Amino acid sequence: MESLTVSIQELVQWYDKAKQEAIAAEISPSEVDWLLQEVAGLNKLSLRLGSSQARALILLQQPLSVLTQLWQQRLRDRTPVQYLAGIAHWRHFSLKVAPGVLIPRPETEIIVDLALNAIQNSPNLELASGNWVDLGTGSGAIALGLAKILTKATIYAVDISDEALAIARQNAIALGLAERINFYQGSWWSPLETLKGQVSGMVSNPPYIPTNAIAELQPEVAQHEPHLALDGGSDGLDCIRHLVTLAPDYLVCGGIWLIEIMAGQAEQVVRLLQEKGCYDKIQIFTDLAGIERFALAYRG
Ligand code: GLN
Repeated sequence: MESLTVSIQELVQWYDKAKQEAIAAEISPSEVDWLLQEVAGLNKLSLRLGSSQARALILLQQPLSVLTQLWQQRLRDRTPVQYLAGIAHWRHFSLKVAPGVLIPRPETEIIVDLALNAIQNSPNLELASGNWVDLGTGSGAIALGLAKILTKATIYAVDISDEALAIARQNAIALGLAERINFYQGSWWSPLETLKGQVSGMVSNPPYIPTNAIAELQPEVAQHEPHLALDGGSDGLDCIRHLVTLAPDYLVCGGIWLIEIMAGQAEQVVRLLQEKGCYDKIQIFTDLAGIERFALAYRG
């Protein structure tokens, strides 16, 4: 078996080389720190503190050869580090991820806070203790965020992919939230027929990238993330149109409709909601970078 201890000297050498390779490959050098932390259990501080004692030995959770192999895969195949480590951090969760699920993005984190604000801005405070659905749950991120913040709600997490649902379930179990979430396999609303007229809120990060634009995304996304979670059809709005059309059958009066959208889609999504004729108080929210990222409406 390969040694799990390395000298600090050897590790620092490895670290400096990997950082240079990152820069040369236009990858953020902070990914080297991230990988060391997640895969080897090492933090930057221990590396810095240790470097004053060149002969000190450091205990790794994985041999250096494994780290090297993962790092080469990062550089050569442009595999996202989150898939290499099998972990993504999102809100205060550590989530298991694999190539069958989209890596939850930092910009999506605030959708959970927007849901809470939407309840607080509604005259119907019972929404907080009703049924909430995360359609296209992927790794389960949004459903878990809702379960954590809406402590009295019943959460439903739906995905068409069995592989995604299995990961979402494992995440719920690991976070002690499995009792709070009902998982269903199926397309959008279809497994939730029995909840017609009884849903307090629908939250979703649906696929919204126009099919032709996918090939132009970074290789990390285009070549490694599931197109099922990205591809929104020819204009990117196929799934969004579906959610606009079907949600009114499921939402209670005053219920919340909240989704993530892509830069440039706000106007069209507002129009779709208006044309449907049964949504009130349609609003667009920006993410922390100021990009129009979320659409909110209430069932009239
Ligand atoms: N935000 C993702 C990206 O940047 C896309 C996620 C989605 O389609 N919902 O690729």
